Amino acid sequence: MVDVINIPRRVKNLVDKWGTANPFSLCKYLGILIIYKDLGEIKGYSMKRLGKKLICINENLNEVDKLFTCAHEMGHLLCHNFEDLKFLKENTNLVNISSYENEANLFAKELLKDNQCWCRYSKINPKYWEIFR
Ligand SMILES: [Zn+2]
Repeated sequence: MVDVINIPRRVKNLVDKWGTANPFSLCKYLGILIIYKDLGEIKGYSMKRLGKKLICINENLNEVDKLFTCAHEMGHLLCHNFEDLKFLKENTNLVNISSYENEANLFAKELLKDNQCWCRYSKINPKYWEIFR
């Protein structure tokens, strides 16, 4: 049901086109609005409304987590059809929503793999990818 998309190639195209792998810069170029709020336990979320894309990041996260959250939410915005996702979430419990999370994490990994700050952090926390939602 989920389109199989080539996430590494999609990330490479994005980085080649804009000349940066910084998710915050890419959001600016792509017209994705980023806002910061106190979200409690939630790291972030993203949405599409009336053709506009928005990422909300928990203001209490450290800088590295903000970076990852931004990249992860970009993955949701750029890799999924939100109308389908909303429909599926509301109308069935058969869909494995975590496959969307895996796609978003793969997108973030690809985007951040050459980021020095992120690489150091992910070595300290190898389980980080598995627990992130
Ligand atoms: Zn997610």
